[in-house]
Amino acid sequence: MYTLKNDVLSYTLDDRGYNCSFFHLATNHEYVKIPGTVWKLIYSVTGTEQVECVVWQDGQKQQISACKDVLILRCNSMIGEDGRLIDASLTLRFLSAPQGLRVIAELENRDPSVILQELQLTPVSGVHSLSGRHNDDFIAWPRGLGIRIPNPAYNDLSTYAGFRKYERHDQFHTDMDALYQSDHASMQWFDWYNSEEGLYIGSEDTTRQALCLHIERDTHLNVLRFGMIRYPMLNAGEQWQGQAIACFPHLGDWHAGSRFYRAFMETSGGYVPPKRPDWCRDMTGWLRVILKQQHGKLNWDYSDIPALYDEAAAAGFNTLYLLGWEKGGFARMWPDYIVDERMGGVEKLKEGIDYVHKKGGRVLMFLSYALVDHNSNFYLNEGGEKVPIRSLWGEDIPFSETYCGEGTYRKIGNPAMPMYLACPGAPLWQEKMKWAAKQCLELGADGVLYDIGGWFPYFCYAEDHTHKKPSHSHESKAANYSDLRNYVKTFGDNKIILMEHNVDIYGQSMDISHGSNSQPDTRLLDPISAENLSDAYLDSRLSEMYLYTFPELITTNRECGQDEDHYRAMAGYSFLLGLRFDMTVYRCCGSLKNLPNYTAYLMELNALYHRYEKHLLRGLFVDTDGFTADNPYVYVKGWQAEDGTMAVTLWNPTSQSRTVTITNTQTGNATVVSVAAEMATAAEI
Ligand SMILES: [Zn+2]
Repeated sequence: MYTLKNDVLSYTLDDRGYNCSFFHLATNHEYVKIPGTVWKLIYSVTGTEQVECVVWQDGQKQQISACKDVLILRCNSMIGEDGRLIDASLTLRFLSAPQGLRVIAELENRDPSVILQELQLTPVSGVHSLSGRHNDDFIAWPRGLGIRIPNPAYNDLSTYAGFRKYERHDQFHTDMDALYQSDHASMQWFDWYNSEEGLYIGSEDTTRQALCLHIERDTHLNVLRFGMIRYPMLNAGEQWQGQAIACFPHLGDWHAGSRFYRAFMETSGGYVPPKRPDWCRDMTGWLRVILKQQHGKLNWDYSDIPALYDEAAAAGFNTLYLLGWEKGGFARMWPDYIVDERMGGVEKLKEGIDYVHKKGGRVLMFLSYALVDHNSNFYLNEGGEKVPIRSLWGEDIPFSETYCGEGTYRKIGNPAMPMYLACPGAPLWQEKMKWAAKQCLELGADGVLYDIGGWFPYFCYAEDHTHKKPSHSHESKAANYSDLRNYVKTFGDNKIILMEHNVDIYGQSMDISHGSNSQPDTRLLDPISAENLSDAYLDSRLSEMYLYTFPELITTNRECGQDEDHYRAMAGYSFLLGLRFDMTVYRCCGSLKNLPNYTAYLMELNALYHRYEKHLLRGLFVDTDGFTADNPYVYVKGWQAEDGTMAVTLWNPTSQSRTVTITNTQTGNATVVSVAAEMATAAEI
């Protein structure tokens, strides 16, 4: 046995190098139920069909040593599949930290017959429950703004991760896996928690090379293994050292984990919140429209911009967001962002934008950071064929969508129309993205939105890009966005840059992010089922996870503004969380006059946003810090203004009017607020 002990934990490896104890001193709780492995290595044998082989920890010859503040596990050669001796070494260092434990791995490959592809580390392994009551436990997981998974020791985790079960080893383990940086892992941490205690697992990586958040649940033993996967892809003669994985036990729920991550991001994670123009901070949402559709049909042309803006303004919005403004129509011929003569040409487009400006409004224009059409001039004539991510299979990676009108022949008689994903490691792409922004900003646009900004960071096997390894494909992406931000600001401090998706290290370069699905849980869409509090346990939304960690970042809602179905719940939940309204009426082919009831409610909420502007639009989201509320049917979130005062947003999704008493824990003031059935409101406390 080898034990590391400090003020917060006692951590033990047994003689096999398995984690046999993780003892949380503050709660006297032992987390490990059955000793578990802490590493697994995946390798390929060069020039053979053996592309995905395993070195299991079990049965390896390892030396373990313990000093005061560190345990070292070393494996100087390995036995792979079929008894293959692999001349490679692995060193794991388990370091005492003031908050708990940090683990650092090193790999060296001396064996020309193999490539060491990936290293799966699970320093906390074989755990079952935090406090002896597995039903009380949750996982907080950073998909989009965040989700939570109840009872993880008995839950089918791979379904939450979106995997098709037939394709994975679910007979042995069911896993949560997601690649950071992407909308599927917007931050590099997760938390295992209940209401009283928890365990933070965070990566302290700053290389931006591929990283997979990893939870493995053994389907036979019902135990969990927590950690991260890295992709060194080491050839013979190469070495690799990973940055630390932090394993910090804590009191309180996931908020404690959020504070650990925030502290890392502020100290060595390079996080600097963006400074944005006032009009952008005060924006409560936009009307998003597609002018020209993928099948060439015009919903509107440039001469309709004034009327569209007036409709948005009447509902309390001052921003119009234009898609399908380009000649090819929406989702075709990208990145040829050319003004369309058929829609009225440069003159009419400029006139439309000028009209909006004269009315005090703003216009945003769409670009895609991700997609290249093989039929575009860029691809055919500007060297664009060198830009796409080249997959392991030697192909460009398609991203395919067919948008249709009344017809079916395009939509179901054909596969979806492909475009292909661009690699952030292709310098020509970054130049093209600057060129595209210039086209929009010179027309007078107030901002450009880079769509599909946080897609899967697929590995890229193209040889003429800037990345050294396929798994490094996205290492420059955050810097690219920072560069684009600086470029956009050269057109004026009032110009803004936006992207689709929330990813922390990209978000800090964005004035606003266009969120992913932010609909409330299904239970809360219906005012009757919203009254069933016993089912609240199964609600999976945890949007607070990202918002609480990075309250300076502004994001919109999504999939909430298309029709009038459940519109009170959609808008109320969005307002509760301070999400700006992404109004996509009739799939961006309609305008606010199509949704009169919704529009009337938005006018009320927009007025509330402005009434509590210094808290809700210019202040910081503090979730449930700083106050108590006494009615479990009403959702209440806190906001702190720069002057230190507090307000709350409230949402009552049930069918009855409710009263709630909010007590400010700092001042002791109690405020009684009534919230009508299915409505949202706000109050200073
Ligand atoms: Zn590449």
